[in-house]
Amino acid sequence: MSGEGALSVFARAKELEGQGRSIIHLELGEPDFHPSGTVLDALRAAVTEGRDRYCAVQGVPALRQELAHYLARTRDLEVSGDEIVIAPGCKIALFFAMMALVEPGDEVLYPDPGFPAYPSIARGLGAVPVAFELSERNQLQPDPAQVAARITPRTKVLITNSPGNPTGTIYSDAVQRRLAELAVEHDLYVLSDEIYARLVYGERVRSMRSYPGMAARTVIIDGFSKSFAMTGWRLGYAVAPPLVVDALNMLAVNSYTCVAEFTQHAAIEALRDREQATPRMVAEFHRRREQFIHDLNQVPGFRCAPPSGGFYAWVNVADTHARAEEVCRIMLEEAGVAAIPGAAFGPSGHDFIRFSFASSTAVLREAIERMQRVSRTWQRNHL
Ligand code: PLP
Repeated sequence: MSGEGALSVFARAKELEGQGRSIIHLELGEPDFHPSGTVLDALRAAVTEGRDRYCAVQGVPALRQELAHYLARTRDLEVSGDEIVIAPGCKIALFFAMMALVEPGDEVLYPDPGFPAYPSIARGLGAVPVAFELSERNQLQPDPAQVAARITPRTKVLITNSPGNPTGTIYSDAVQRRLAELAVEHDLYVLSDEIYARLVYGERVRSMRSYPGMAARTVIIDGFSKSFAMTGWRLGYAVAPPLVVDALNMLAVNSYTCVAEFTQHAAIEALRDREQATPRMVAEFHRRREQFIHDLNQVPGFRCAPPSGGFYAWVNVADTHARAEEVCRIMLEEAGVAAIPGAAFGPSGHDFIRFSFASSTAVLREAIERMQRVSRTWQRNHL
């Protein structure tokens, strides 16, 4: 398996901070928000009521029921609580879903650039990760013809991620429809990572599960980390067909047993969102997106389009004529701005840098000023 670029940049940034340097952290994918007061009240009440015991392996029924309502409301999905498994974070849901679906030697199609855990988990399970590209000439959309060309008799799983990390792309309806047809035609499971589904700027996302024939072959991965600013709570879930639910329950029994009951009760309150915390957070990310993308395009050698979802700027730095790694190194070591070289998300990312804009507009402005200042270094060396 392999590590995550974000976490290694974070480690170096922390080291510099330890030496007294001022660092602006734009490397991690973490909202700078916290859950609303009603969620914290629900958490306190659950602990006070003694909800701190072992509980249902598949997840508290009331939470699964609430998630079914939530998915109907926000994604037009018709699912029952029985089709949902609560997990300690999306990553575990993703890992166990892959473990349930692939055997050694099976092939797993995944987006490049994409979340680094996709190929890493596949490889760790003895499967063969096979990339499909999200290239600029295709507006960072998957090319269904390329996906089709990479399907073999060993292909078992197709991973989709819309809106995507790191590109922010929302897959078009035509692309998703064609990918769904390919899945049906070749008897593939689709692992649809929808963790950024609520963080969208205009368009609403459509789940891969909603296309013809897909309910029986889609495993949705989602959770509370991004949409509800609950990264450290470690709460995720899978929506899956019955056989996969059984497998996920079996894996839970043999590993984490259950997810903490008090956090699950608080999560019900997060889903009800009485204080409209998610729409307010998304409106704020929208403002930051406008400002930050505009400002990034003023930095010499940088070029980026506004992402449709998520909170990442995916910046092409080819015009700096320096390697993205070198630009990141200069930004971190000389200006104290931490960001991730695109190759950390796969070979197709080698001309790019990913910045998270989950920081205040003032912090983002300061980051731009620092980058403008050190941009002279790559201009002098390479332009
Ligand atoms: N999937 C994608 C695409 C992500 O970007 C992330 C986190 O950055 C995850 C899954 C993991 O989410 P969690 O923190 O709930 O494990």
